[in-house]
Amino acid sequence: WRVAGRRWLRYADPMAQQRSILIVGGGTAGWLTAAYLARALGQRAAITVLESPGIGIIGVGEGAFPTIRTTLRHIGIDEARFVREAGATFKQGVRFDDWLHSPTPAGRHRYLHPFDAPYQAEGTDLVAHWLLKPASAREPFAEAMTIQNRVADAVRAPKHSGEGDYDGPLAYAYHFDAHRLAALLRARAVELGVRHLEGELRGVETGEAGIGRVHTDAHGALTADLYVDCSGFRAELLGRALGGPFRSAKAHLFTDRALACKIAYDRPDTPIESVTTATAHEAGWIWDIGLQHARGLGCVYSSAHLSDARAAEILRAYVGHDRFDARIIPFEPGWRETQWVGNCVAVGLAGGFLEPLESTGIVLIEAAAAMIAEFLPFGGAVSASASRFNALMGARYGAITNFLKLHYCLSRRPEPFWRDNADPASIPDTLGAMLAEWRHRPPSRFDFLVGTESFAPFNYQYVLYGMGFETDLGQDAGGGADAAHAERLFERIRSFGRQAVAELPEHRALIRQIGEGV
Ligand code: FAD
Repeated sequence: WRVAGRRWLRYADPMAQQRSILIVGGGTAGWLTAAYLARALGQRAAITVLESPGIGIIGVGEGAFPTIRTTLRHIGIDEARFVREAGATFKQGVRFDDWLHSPTPAGRHRYLHPFDAPYQAEGTDLVAHWLLKPASAREPFAEAMTIQNRVADAVRAPKHSGEGDYDGPLAYAYHFDAHRLAALLRARAVELGVRHLEGELRGVETGEAGIGRVHTDAHGALTADLYVDCSGFRAELLGRALGGPFRSAKAHLFTDRALACKIAYDRPDTPIESVTTATAHEAGWIWDIGLQHARGLGCVYSSAHLSDARAAEILRAYVGHDRFDARIIPFEPGWRETQWVGNCVAVGLAGGFLEPLESTGIVLIEAAAAMIAEFLPFGGAVSASASRFNALMGARYGAITNFLKLHYCLSRRPEPFWRDNADPASIPDTLGAMLAEWRHRPPSRFDFLVGTESFAPFNYQYVLYGMGFETDLGQDAGGGADAAHAERLFERIRSFGRQAVAELPEHRALIRQIGEGV
């Protein structure tokens, strides 16, 4: 009924309520929003994107979350085209090295946050059975709960070739080249009827509605019913022109710089990892992403705890040589409290950014684009749902802050950066309260509000139990026949895992096959 009703509304009189939308910025945020809105609004919107090739895009943001599959399907890009044109590889989760403690002669700590949900068995709560085992008798949580750990360790792809678009036996996302992704989204948006202007915004007139008009170097003055600020950290419209207040997350999340580079593979057939590797160091962590033609790396750190020179040294030690150029990207973790003001809404870095961990930048762009598409009224002021948008986006940023902080605050590393992260004063109250509750029960779906949460309770479980957090279920829960049944289920997961490793293609081989159109 809903779909039929919307169709009718859209086609009854296509031009009746057409809105003009001007998107300033042609990075991932600008082009993803343009393509998303073009597809969702059809004739209801006339969309223009203004971008400045001279200023360029930030060019990082090489990892996504599984929500990207739904977004790309909605936009109408098929998976093979996406893999070929964005230079994409498959991502099955994030592997965390050295987050619990620093490497010791006895070994390193490692855990996986896989994208696949824990195996669900009717009538048997496997999480509870895992928690009831003595710590010494447990497999790592992700290994016990899913087959994805084994598949990723064996450098296998999460699906077979020829399996449906954006579909497969395991949840997955992608790694990709940020420049090629923006180019692909641009090509798709233009196919969908979006007008593309190259030029630079040089001035903004504000008015009662918010933005009055914008002045450009090459196209004169431009006006629109709705302005979308996708101008990256410059935040030309919502930040500079309208002065939207910025809410810093610095009290909770300490990293504020990244030193990013690309490293070529040693050989053309070097296996490509299908997880992001996140390796902790004395004052932050390093991302290591397997792209098609190179690895993307970045040393993320807190400038209050580490000098740029020391960060460069840490990155060189990780890479094993110094034959690469790296660039420093400073950022301030936080978000604009009101992201939609009158006729102007910010999406992407212009609206906020927390830090690269867990790839939440693009997740937030997807959420904002979908909300704009559904909140844009068929009549009346474009800003009718602005306060609802602001409340939902603010809550989403807050929830992500909690999830990211969880990765840091459970660490037992001794360096000042990690001790400061474990200081209860740096833990948001809402996270502190949940951690206290999780001492006696695991995270539940009722801990989170649907609509403001980007992560599921199981994402929290993977991080909590990967980091050695103990949830005490009491001594007598479970046991007996039920425990024996749970053991059989754990064995079934192990055996499915072995089978999947034997049957799934090697990751690089699948990428090559897709590239060749086989
Ligand atoms: P940009 O890419 O900076 O684009 C801004 C656009 O605005 C450009 O086209 C520019 O030319 C244009 N512009 C600016 N000013 C003007 C003007 N005056 N006139 C005309 N045009 C103008 N996200 C993830 O999801 N996963 C990750 O792994 C990840 N890693 C990250 C690592 C780092 C270090 C950082 C800083 C961010 C990371 N992000 C990540 C976030 C991600 O990079 C961004 O969310 C994403 O790239 C979107 O950027 P953007 O389009 O908002 O900005």
